[in-house]
Amino acid sequence: MPAIRSLPPRAMAAAFDYLVLGGGSGGLASARRAAELGARVAVVEHQRLGGTCVNVGCVPKKVMWNTAVHFEFIHDHADYGFETPNVKFNWRVIKEKRDAYVSRLNGIYQNNLNKAHIETIHGHAAFTSDPEPTVEVNGKKYTAPHILIATGGRPSVTPDSEIPGASLGITSDGFFELEELPRRSVVVGAGYIAVEIAGILSTLGSKTSLLIRHDKVLRTFDSMISANCTQELENAGIDVWKHSLVKSVTKSPLGLLEVTVISSAPGHKPTVSKILDVDCLLWAIGRNPNTEGLNLDKLDLKLDAKGHIVVDEFQNTSRKGIYAVGDVCGKALLTPVAIAAGRKLAHRLFEGKQDSKLDYSNIPTVVFSHPPIGTVGLTEEEAISTYGKENVKIYTTSFTPMYHAVTQRKTKCVMKLVCAGKEEKVVGLHMQGLGCDEMLQGFAVAVKMGATKASFDETVAIHPTSAEELVTLR
Ligand SMILES: Cc1cc2nc3c(=O)[nH]c(=O)nc-3n(C[C@H](O)[C@H](O)[C@H](O)COP(=O)(O)OP(=O)(O)OC[C@H]3O[C@@H](n4cnc5c(N)ncnc54)[C@H](O)[C@@H]3O)c2cc1C
Repeated sequence: MPAIRSLPPRAMAAAFDYLVLGGGSGGLASARRAAELGARVAVVEHQRLGGTCVNVGCVPKKVMWNTAVHFEFIHDHADYGFETPNVKFNWRVIKEKRDAYVSRLNGIYQNNLNKAHIETIHGHAAFTSDPEPTVEVNGKKYTAPHILIATGGRPSVTPDSEIPGASLGITSDGFFELEELPRRSVVVGAGYIAVEIAGILSTLGSKTSLLIRHDKVLRTFDSMISANCTQELENAGIDVWKHSLVKSVTKSPLGLLEVTVISSAPGHKPTVSKILDVDCLLWAIGRNPNTEGLNLDKLDLKLDAKGHIVVDEFQNTSRKGIYAVGDVCGKALLTPVAIAAGRKLAHRLFEGKQDSKLDYSNIPTVVFSHPPIGTVGLTEEEAISTYGKENVKIYTTSFTPMYHAVTQRKTKCVMKLVCAGKEEKVVGLHMQGLGCDEMLQGFAVAVKMGATKASFDETVAIHPTSAEELVTLR
């Protein structure tokens, strides 16, 4: 394996073929695939390998969701005939196990890079003003004919100048540092991260308020999901403050927060209220791309208004030889999307597959709410604007899953098929209910293959499941 050399400023001969900035989902996947295809590769990472997903995203989040689901089932134990007196939950136990699991994954990622003879450069990457695209890390310069920017994103924070005391709160990154379950939590935001974290905190026993700007969460999802999820949050005991914004935050001498909230429902006078004794205020109000600090101005790269790198369908940026994948591009912020786009790019650059690119249509996604949401394809609203109202047929159902036949605690399952054209092609599938997270992947294959309502109907149902409802809709 050729050693990765740091280059003196004027000697720009590349010691490797592919320089990847960011050791997260997209960067690592692309780097490893490129190495498999024979490229000499280096990855630059300034934090822990694995990126957002492994360290402060999907992985630790799913551990906490599993923990919360466990607790939900414990609530149902008595209804199923089990006596489980004195159940106590110790946050520290699961936090330690979760951290250890994440550390193991960090190590596995490093091993995988070593095994693939990929050089890991630890440090912050920034472009220089050299005539050829060049990256500087810890005072050393590196270049390559192909450079991938896969630097991901970070949670948005509101400055104290906009909301006094805002910095007394934490973000999703801070959620994974909490050493104890907060007794009183306020989560601000209506996107999937806000919904998931509010659900976890509340299910595990923190008294939780969710502050949203409008009257529903997940407003970019199908309207059925948005409405049902808002209702499920409320049913689960989360105090959903609608049409509400944080005005200011202060800290008491005891270290607890006082959150002042303005609520202004349409047609009503704004009211100001206070939420007292808060020990966790969590902002989940969006994410920003990690483009600052890369010195992208030195490359004259095209960015959008929010700082995302503008790429074409082949992940090319506006500068030849520089590519971008994943959250830094601002489109479909999901791990498998970053991975797939990164791999496709490697095949194009190092295997000569000129047409290799990710198809961004029909990307399935799950929200780990309580109960979980699964969705793929167009929402009803999008289908109507694409095909016209007269060409769209909707099938829906709403029922209580059989699991709840004997439990006092109830959740609903809602499902919707969005069909288009005379042949009733299924262009959207949306559901929320027990098991919908694991149910979606197979149905997403069918939707991707262009299945019609008739293909669904011709499939024999599996009984008794919730999934069978999707092939028996009328
Ligand atoms: C709370 C939360 C839950 C999530 N849950 C899910 C989920 O359930 N399913 C799902 O599919 N997605 C989920 N996501 C989204 C998912 O984590 C991201 O879409 C994915 O990690 C994006 O991968 P990426 O490679 O683009 O960026 P990242 O994984 O963020 O990797 C970017 C890497 O670049 C490094 N970096 C940045 N700048 C520099 C620099 N200048 N020099 C060197 N290194 C740099 C960063 O340290 C980071 O390691 C979640 C995200 C969050 C925040």
